[in-house]
Amino acid sequence: MAKKLKILSVDDDFINLKLINVMLKKNPNVAEVLEAKNGAEALDVLKARPDIDMVLLDIKMPIMDGIQFLVTIHSHSMQELKNIPIVVLTTDDTRKYEALEKGAHDFLIKPIREHDLFEKIQKITQLFG
Ligand SMILES: [Mg+2]
Repeated sequence: MAKKLKILSVDDDFINLKLINVMLKKNPNVAEVLEAKNGAEALDVLKARPDIDMVLLDIKMPIMDGIQFLVTIHSHSMQELKNIPIVVLTTDDTRKYEALEKGAHDFLIKPIREHDLFEKIQKITQLFG
């Protein structure tokens, strides 16, 4: 993995954001971790930071949930964001399929384990080059 990754982590739960942040910062291939508390904030971050390489996305969030976020970035007005790899992080076993249908590339089931997270990041990085 030549290029170091900039990852946007999106979750309304502060503790989840903190846990993911701590894990990601242990990964030598991760250069920067950005955070957002809902889909709307995540959109703002992505518009301001086109250099972000990957999004880790919670589903259940206020204001704009993960599914709405996926629908929005795959809408015609946001074509420039549609190719960014998105991994859904969810406790909800059924909504992960909905997320994949709406354009998420992969998923992890909470509670997230560091090993699984790193494996998924590596897989996505290889797929997207
Ligand atoms: Mg949530």
